[in-house]
Parts: sequence; C-alpha cells; structure tokens
Amino acid sequence: MIPKTMKACQLVAFNKLEIREVPVPAPGPDEVLCRIRAVAICGTDPEIIFGHHAKKGWPPRFPFTLGHEWAGEVVALGPNVTEFKEGDRVAGEAHKGCGACENCLKGRYTLCLNYGKEEKGHRHYGFTVPGANCEYNVYSTKALRKIPDNLSFEHASLLDTAGVALHGIEMIGVTPGGTVAVWGPGPIGLCAMQMMKGMGAKTVIMVGRKHRLKVAGEIGADILIDFEKEDPVKRILELTGGKGVDEIQECSGAAVALKECLAAVRKGGKINLIGFYEDSKVVLPPITSIVMNEITLTGSRANPNVSDRVLNMFAAGILKGDKVVSHTFPLEKYEEALDTFVHRKDGAIKVVVKP
Ligand SMILES: [Zn+2]
Ligand SMILES: [Zn+2]
Repeated sequence: MIPKTMKACQLVAFNKLEIREVPVPAPGPDEVLCRIRAVAICGTDPEIIFGHHAKKGWPPRFPFTLGHEWAGEVVALGPNVTEFKEGDRVAGEAHKGCGACENCLKGRYTLCLNYGKEEKGHRHYGFTVPGANCEYNVYSTKALRKIPDNLSFEHASLLDTAGVALHGIEMIGVTPGGTVAVWGPGPIGLCAMQMMKGMGAKTVIMVGRKHRLKVAGEIGADILIDFEKEDPVKRILELTGGKGVDEIQECSGAAVALKECLAAVRKGGKINLIGFYEDSKVVLPPITSIVMNEITLTGSRANPNVSDRVLNMFAAGILKGDKVVSHTFPLEKYEEALDTFVHRKDGAIKVVVKP
C-alpha cells in the first residue's frame, strides 16, 4: 500500500532544512512513482542550500525537495507506461529534456533549449522540479534505468556521478595502452579513474591530496601525485620522458588546474574539463600553447546517453562503488550527512542518505 503522505527533507529557506510530512505525488502519463531507497549528496546540493545558485533559479521556490542522485524501486505506474513494472529496481538521471528542441533531437538533452520549462516537458529533478530527498517521487520513464541485480541501491545512486565521468571521457576518448591523468580524486574523479583504466589506459595518474588521493591508490590508480608535496607538472613530465600524458580529465575545479593540465598534456593531447570553477580566480594558461601544440580542450556537462553503459561497467566490475560511497545516513539525519559531506569528516567522499 502506498501511503497518502511521506517524509521529505525540504529546503524551507536558504540554510534551513526541515523534515516535513508532505503528500505522496501521483504519477502522470509516462511517469512512475518510485520508492527512494538511496540518494547521494552531490556537490551542488550544499551550494543550492547555501543560496549560491539562487540566480540560476535553484531552488525555484520554498519549500523545495532537493536530491538528484538516487536509486529505488518502481511502486506505481502512470498512464501509458509499458517500459517498467512494479518492483523494478531503478536509478535516475537528473536531466529529462523536452524531447523536441534542436539539442534534444540530437541527443544533447542536458543542453535542452527549453531548460526549466515544465510546460514543454523539461525536468531537472532536484533542481527545477522536486527531487529524491524523500520517501517517494514521480519520474518520467525517460529519466529511469533498470539496475543490475548485483548492484546495491547505495552504489546505484552513483549512476549520475559515474555518468558525468563517462560523458567527460567520451568527449576526448582514452588512448588504449596510453598514459592518462585525472586531476581531483573526488567522487567523479574516482569514477573517471576506474573507467579509464577499464577502457584500456596502461597507466592512470591521479593528482590530488590527503585521504582521497590515498583512496584513489586503493581502488586502482597507478601513480599518485600529491600536489601539496610535489609539482604535478614536473613529475608527469619526468614520468613520460618529457612528453606529457595523452588525455586528462580535470575534475578538481581548482584555479590552477587548467594551467597545470596544459603543461602536463602531450603535444596533440586532449583535456576535458568537468570541474566547476570560480571564474574570477582561474589562473589563465598561455593560450597560444593550445594553438601551437594542437591541444583539444573540451568541457562536458552532466551525463547524457551514458547510463546503460555505466550500469554495465558496474555489473562487470570495471567500476566499483566501494570506498567511493564512504558513509550512509537515514533521511532524519540529513543535516548530519550534509555536514559530514561538506566538511569531509571522517574521510567522507560520497555520502548517501537512505529515506
Ligand atoms: Zn549531481
Ligand atoms: Zn529540449
């Protein structure tokens, strides 16, 4: 039986969260109702809570339910739904495009030209429409994927994070047998590292510091460079006989990262940026080096068209959630979970809440 009301952790004002009893939503056409079993805290969640994204319209109103990296079970079907049945174990994508604009028609639905327009069918769950920090939520079938039997809900809630990594990797590829680097051993960087290894890189170098860098080594990075102890560019050039690496995924968002990456990539090499930057602080590199060395420089946003392959990588053991998911909390302790995540308490990497 689906109850009439449920618990939701809602943002009632900036910096103010409350566990509230709210109505369980009903699925519309091509939507299903899901029981949320695990929802991971994303780096953007605290920024929205603190009010840093108010100008972007996140949240669109108060009270609002955040949470967009989730897994759970289908418990009720809306009209027209044939792709899912009750009891299916699923994980969600945050972006659902309008399906009709030029970008959506090209499959680039995270860049939907009708962003935020609910009447056009666009949904950005946990950003422009309610998210998963609650017991039940409705989702378009387009935003759902069935998850493998051997994947836990906690690890399946990494679908979005790992998908962001895979979309970034696909922007520039991986040289089979090559040497690649990842800047930033956060949740996305740790997924990117495992995937690049699985996609055939001979050597994966991780640039970071402290506990997260250590974890990168424990789950597969070949060479660890602690930027607090040594210059990553100098070390990478030494390791590659002065040539530099084939591809770099920049997942740190650090002000100096782009400058370092350009100095550490080989001539003709490729760099993709996934990090979010404080633009006013970014140290600009010598731009001419991009021209003279024919460097491919791209950015990638979110995780379009990668979820099924991410789940296959989980099923095959190429990608593992162990150690990336470092903590779990019940929904009632969301604020403690948030504090643990934000302040990286007790070695926190990805913190998952279980409503
Ligand atoms: Zn996210
Ligand atoms: Zn669209």
